[in-house]
Amino acid sequence: MSDSRSNAPVNEEKLDKLAQVAVHTGLGLEAGQDLLITAPLTALPLVRKITEHAYKAGAGLVTTIYSDEEATLARYKHANDDAFDHAADWLYEGMAKAFGSNTARLAISGDNPMMLAEQDPEKVSRANRANSKAYKPAIKKITGFEINWNIVSYPNPKWAKLVFPDLGEDEAIAKLADAIFAASRVDQADPVAAWSQHNADIHARRDWLNQMKFRDLHFQAPGTDLIVGLADNHEWAGGASLAKNGITCNPNIPTEEVFTTPHARRVNGTVRATKPLAHNGSVIENIEMVFKDGVAVEVRASKGENVWNKVLDTDEGGRRLGEVALVPHSSPISQSGVLFYNTLFDENAACHIAMGQCYTECFVDGDKLTEDEVTEKGGNSSLIHIDWMIGSDEMDIDGITQDGERVPVFRKGEWAN
Ligand code: ZN
Ligand code: ZN
Repeated sequence: MSDSRSNAPVNEEKLDKLAQVAVHTGLGLEAGQDLLITAPLTALPLVRKITEHAYKAGAGLVTTIYSDEEATLARYKHANDDAFDHAADWLYEGMAKAFGSNTARLAISGDNPMMLAEQDPEKVSRANRANSKAYKPAIKKITGFEINWNIVSYPNPKWAKLVFPDLGEDEAIAKLADAIFAASRVDQADPVAAWSQHNADIHARRDWLNQMKFRDLHFQAPGTDLIVGLADNHEWAGGASLAKNGITCNPNIPTEEVFTTPHARRVNGTVRATKPLAHNGSVIENIEMVFKDGVAVEVRASKGENVWNKVLDTDEGGRRLGEVALVPHSSPISQSGVLFYNTLFDENAACHIAMGQCYTECFVDGDKLTEDEVTEKGGNSSLIHIDWMIGSDEMDIDGITQDGERVPVFRKGEWAN
């Protein structure tokens, strides 16, 4: 981050449209609502535009909490060892309190994916664990859709250079910005209308899956032969969601997935990643896992295996699935051919599964279930939720009905019907 970014090569007009999409389609911000933003300092130009559009939409108070790569690295360099088991619980308690009084939540994703790659994995994992634990009261209100929330993205110079290593910095930023704009549909004449159409398409897929009520999904591709049992009374979700405060929001911009809750004790077989996974400042490559009765009993990766195992050891639920998501290979993000090293984009380029926490909204009447009832129906619980990509143009998926009948869902990476 430097002041020279004030003339950074990001298209102003499209940036303004992205801010409008974030406020109106992403958040569905209502007049009188406060807004809490978290963002890396490098995303300042987008924060300013979002703040402007939020106030134009009648926001009460917009508050932004910034993070900074240099400050984060200073901690790894100079902090006492004890400090890595420490997190700002007071901050997350404050966030939870804000959400409890109907404050909307917007996160800007765009950190350098390799920020922590050189740091001690033990310290990284301790810091993440402490942070996830402290974050719990706030994240529960977000994943439980008590309020409207949204994640959008803005290019960071180091991230842009990772995605486009052969380009100069300015060119790489411009190109990553354009890829973000295209994936977020703000390169279209009327982005808000484009999102309405896209939401309708996703909802049609979601409704079909909910009608089928499959017992299991069978994923087959080179290196993958995996049966994912679906949780009892699971419900598929995707696209715009109605939050409990009565506001319809699009939690992720972009989004291409329909997703639901797998059964944490009924996953069996082998599965191979089709994309590298960027997680909290490290990149993990060529993940392969064997599942038995829901647990990942064998875990391999050609790069970052140690980091990945430490992440999965966060708690008992870390080696079980909390999400299964379907994304066609023809999705615009996949067709762009860009590997973003950022889950917000990469998960929307391929079918994926997530280790860890399930979404309770992915159950029929999920908001009325107790934690024990969620567990009994097969929902997983964990401090982590990490999506990793398994889809490709070679993936076939069968749905297996409650009677054991097979129905084609995907063929060669595309919807079969
Ligand atoms: Zn997902
Ligand atoms: Zn996920």
